Amino acid sequence: MSRRKLIVQKYGGSSVADTSRIKEVANRIVRQKKKGYNIVVVVSALGDTTDNLINLAQEITDSPSEREMDMLMSTGEQMSIALLAMALHKIGLEAISFTGAQVGIITDASHTKAKIIDINCKRIELELKKGKIVIVAGFQGITMSDDITTLGRGGSNLTAVALAKALKASTCEMCTDVEGVYTADPRIVPNARKVSSISYEEMLELASAGAQVLQPRSIEVAKKFNVPIHIRSSFLDTNGTIISKEVKAMEDIVVRGVAVNKNEAKITICAVPDKPGIAAKIFKKIAEANINIDMIIQNVSRIGYTDISFTVMNKDLNKTLKTTEQVAKSVGAGNVECNDNIAKLSIVGIGMRSHSGIASRMFSALARNKVNIEMISTSEIKVSCVINKKSAAKAARAVHDEFKLSKA
Ligand code: ADP
Ligand code: ASP
Ligand code: MG
Repeated sequence: MSRRKLIVQKYGGSSVADTSRIKEVANRIVRQKKKGYNIVVVVSALGDTTDNLINLAQEITDSPSEREMDMLMSTGEQMSIALLAMALHKIGLEAISFTGAQVGIITDASHTKAKIIDINCKRIELELKKGKIVIVAGFQGITMSDDITTLGRGGSNLTAVALAKALKASTCEMCTDVEGVYTADPRIVPNARKVSSISYEEMLELASAGAQVLQPRSIEVAKKFNVPIHIRSSFLDTNGTIISKEVKAMEDIVVRGVAVNKNEAKITICAVPDKPGIAAKIFKKIAEANINIDMIIQNVSRIGYTDISFTVMNKDLNKTLKTTEQVAKSVGAGNVECNDNIAKLSIVGIGMRSHSGIASRMFSALARNKVNIEMISTSEIKVSCVINKKSAAKAARAVHDEFKLSKA
């Protein structure tokens, strides 16, 4: 795919949290424009707007219609695009803002987690030709039958990647409140170090493990279409982190980063009959309720019974408990217990494929710090442990030190 002198830049909610930040973002866009780039800007909602909108809905009902949730949540981005356009006008630049629907971001109808099917770039191209900066509302699209949809939390990242692909942009910049991807969340591990490059695979695992900085789905799409991503500061012009295809040298780094996810809860079904087909029955019901499960652990059987634990997103806890209690009863299992006082701590690195003993070093670091491990799961390039939420920061720092990640 030949690329053009066009940048897609995404500014996250924290970068447009108030009008003074919006003005700073406008100044950064001017600096880029002066370098001769065409610019398409994707913006998220101001600060905590999306959370606040969700809270408003919750004050009315605990089971709002997903179509109406999308109608509500999409308003956040409509505010920020207009304000950013005004800030650019004020400093003498030509800019025009659009909702997802206006620029033809067509999605399927799975409200609150819609998938982009197609983007019609005609209107954007037309405005770019006129020399304008085009501002697009992130996180939203429209179905073939004209219903507004949203793309899942953090979905502005996906809007940006999809636009970068559709417009053949030279790069997709994710501008945020940190200077790039760090070896751990710098808010939790103060001596975390910025990494200059990272593979799509590692970034995907880090993001899925809770490293917030990018939405996992956006990385999957970027990887699929080889869209180059540069995560960098919204306010400084320093180089950030380039996300790219894996190269040989990356394998030398065994652990690339540490991630903490405090948004999950653990559910345990006690005394599940240890017979073929029972786990299938339980998890089929949970899947039918549209609940995503993360880790699953089944204990060793004790005289015909076993315990099964799994984790889900906190926001799905009530719904999951209801479904799990029903299905536990129907298969003759015992009590259902839950614990939302947990955190998932993960280490990620493609070098793990070729190095052994990494998990045991992580467990030893936790043991030295008296952190109990409740669940463990591993993939080829990741080890995750569920621990007590209160110990999460201490544990993250201990593991970060164990692998000497603050040193280059
Ligand atoms: P935005 O508002 O730009 O979308 P987010 O708040 O979603 O930004 O993501 C940026 C935040 O991600 C940072 O402020 C940082 O605290 C957090 N974060 C978590 N893990 C990492 C990491 N490994 N590297 C950088 N930032 C991280
Ligand atoms: N405003 C949306 C959210 O908070 C989308 C985004 O920030 O990317 O999830
Ligand atoms: Mg974000």
